[in-house]
Amino acid sequence: MTFIDLHTHSTASDGTDSPTELVRKAAQAHLAVLALTDHDTLAGLEEAEQEAKRQNMGFVRGCEISTATPWGEAHFLGLWIPEKGEKTALLEAELEKVRQQRKERNLRIAEKLRTLGFDVSYEAAAALAGGTVVGRPHFAALLCALGVVKDRKEAFRLYLGRDGLAYVPRRLMSPQEAVSLLKSTGAVVSMAHPRLLHAPVEELDHLLAGLKEQGLDALEAYHSEHDAGDVRLCVELASRHHLQLSGGSDYHGLAKPNISIGHGKGGLRVGFSVYEELMKYRREQGGA
Ligand code: AMP
Ligand code: FE
Ligand code: FE
Ligand code: ZN
Repeated sequence: MTFIDLHTHSTASDGTDSPTELVRKAAQAHLAVLALTDHDTLAGLEEAEQEAKRQNMGFVRGCEISTATPWGEAHFLGLWIPEKGEKTALLEAELEKVRQQRKERNLRIAEKLRTLGFDVSYEAAAALAGGTVVGRPHFAALLCALGVVKDRKEAFRLYLGRDGLAYVPRRLMSPQEAVSLLKSTGAVVSMAHPRLLHAPVEELDHLLAGLKEQGLDALEAYHSEHDAGDVRLCVELASRHHLQLSGGSDYHGLAKPNISIGHGKGGLRVGFSVYEELMKYRREQGGA
């Protein structure tokens, strides 16, 4: 069997492997195809693409955008994002705005954490991040290093998560905005880990009907956090709304230590046929 991974993160956002390291690990794991889908940035794509060429491995240029719904965050993946140019100009401009809003939020998170007595700063989080996107996982790592939480999960539960003492919301796009924006580049747009959104099934169904109109192409049925029941539901929803299927581990390196590249939790593996089906769909849509 040949396997793929269409959802991974590098140091360009909140993963801990550089794009080159990430591709090397994917090659060592004998994956046929890898997508890099960093949050809110395309910054790691060139580096990863070059290494994939050296490793003779298939590579898909991607990114992930977070959106707000009444049931919490919904994430969307753009897959096969074109190279930097006219088609990506709007996306690049919008992602730049998102990163600016992140910065304002991060300054406030740092302030709240300092008020709680922790010796952290935005600069320290940014230095740790190294890449272009600084997020809560970097503050979680700082809190771990200070020894004030036992792991990142606890950092989110006590401080950084929605019910945490240092929580600061950030303005997010709507799902409709994110789908249209990713779609405007010509990318294949997939809803990431649909079952991590705690929406009742009827509401998810309704959301998907609307997003399909907006250009949504696929559902990430296969994901580390999906159990067999979640996969079955996603396959059923995809069939009902004429959506393709995608899948990936959501690998973040040390930031999510129980997930390794190409292997999610619970024995997740994504078969090459998922890639073949998406490629067939792209050809039918007039993509490359
Ligand atoms: P941000 O993008 O800055 O709002 O941070 C959200 C990111 O933090 C997500 O994409 C996950 O990678 C990570 N994350 C969210 N919740 C947790 C958690 N409970 N434990 C560890 N990482 C988390
Ligand atoms: Fe993340
Ligand atoms: Fe996500
Ligand atoms: Zn992700």
